[in-house]
Amino acid sequence: MLEVAINEARIGLAEGGIPIGAAMFDGAGRLLASGHNRRVQEGDPSIHAETDAFRRAGRQRSYRDTTMVTTLAPCWYCSGLIRQFGIGRLIVGESETFAGGLDWLRSLGVEVIDLESEVCRGLMQGYIATHPEVWNEDIGME
Ligand SMILES: [Zn+2]
Repeated sequence: MLEVAINEARIGLAEGGIPIGAAMFDGAGRLLASGHNRRVQEGDPSIHAETDAFRRAGRQRSYRDTTMVTTLAPCWYCSGLIRQFGIGRLIVGESETFAGGLDWLRSLGVEVIDLESEVCRGLMQGYIATHPEVWNEDIGME
């Protein structure tokens, strides 16, 4: 599942954007949709990887059994989306670069799995090292 999100992050990076990717799966583990952060590409601060995947997945009858997979722990905006729609499970590639709303989501009963992926960490750390100004602007979301 994480591979799909990582692939999206790499697409974003190749487009000149922030390398954060996400994917949504249904209760049977089938891919619903994937997406990546396109804030830089589109000049739209609301297109985060999670919201991109979520919107592409279309309307689901229930989100309880769905899983959101993202290469980086979700910000407050995306944590709010997970809460709003009752997405049952969240898998993150890493939360060291950015912890986001993980503890809050855990406290609400969302199953949170942190894979502590070196690949995901490398993608973000590499990007931040070369584009600190873009990342600092994003961190303003905190
Ligand atoms: Zn976000």
